[in-house]
Amino acid sequence: VAKSAWIFGDVPGNPEGTTYPDRRALSAAGVHAPPEGGIWGRQAQGVVSIVLNGGYEDDEDHGSEIVYTGHGGQARGGTHQITDQELALNNLALARNVADGLLVRVIRGPRGDPAYSPKVGFRYDGLFHVGRYWHAVGKSGFRVYRYELTKVATSPVAAGIEIHGHLAGPPPKGSAATRRVATTTQRVVRNTAVTQWVKEEHRYACQICGIVLATPAGPYAEGAHVRPLGGEHRGADEPGNVLCLCPNHHTLFDLGAISVGDDLTVVDAMSGAPIGPLLAARRHEVDPAHLRYHREHIAKAN
Ligand SMILES: [Zn+2]
Repeated sequence: VAKSAWIFGDVPGNPEGTTYPDRRALSAAGVHAPPEGGIWGRQAQGVVSIVLNGGYEDDEDHGSEIVYTGHGGQARGGTHQITDQELALNNLALARNVADGLLVRVIRGPRGDPAYSPKVGFRYDGLFHVGRYWHAVGKSGFRVYRYELTKVATSPVAAGIEIHGHLAGPPPKGSAATRRVATTTQRVVRNTAVTQWVKEEHRYACQICGIVLATPAGPYAEGAHVRPLGGEHRGADEPGNVLCLCPNHHTLFDLGAISVGDDLTVVDAMSGAPIGPLLAARRHEVDPAHLRYHREHIAKAN
């Protein structure tokens, strides 16, 4: 794996528990590329990895749960806060993980909480879900951004997924056989390369109402599978089976209040009245077979 490979999830060849003698080795493996910084992120795309190594006085490590402090507000080389942190740069990138449900790799170093950290070197401790972010006054009296990280029980993806930047890449292939995992991580599994690509193609605008929800973390939308994943439905995680929807229309669609016809007209399944055209993006084609399955099995029968 190239040092610069931008991968969410496990980096191939580096399973959870892998150890590295120093930051240079960690960087060379592609697990955490920056030579010094604790956050490897890209604004508007998210954060792929963080290093916990005692750099921030407000960090809390409870093993499978971490309250992680954002970047900045310190003198160079210090561990005390001397100014307020801002929701900008890498802090904004980590907020993007919350909005898009992207998992982050956690690496612990020797200066972290002794109860959970290696005595020497660095250790990759697996994937964590970034559940929410907020700001608070930290120990030194300045505003810090805080992130609630919860360990994912089993890696939902065997290998990392490469997520391209906005409109940079071709549609990802996805997977026809998506594993069912625990409820808390299922949503995360669905937010993989495929749903991410679809959302970016539509620039986070709902395909039914056109609304883009603006948040401090950036735009928010959800990838809705037309034919449900797994179970009896055995829907595929592929672009043709995903719609970019706002949370309201995602719920209405999943509960069968809305359907989409072969001519891509959105229909109120309760009354049968047409609502309008399904909004399109240039490279995103929805598979009519999946829309038919949704009409025949999910939308309210008339
Ligand atoms: Zn909507």
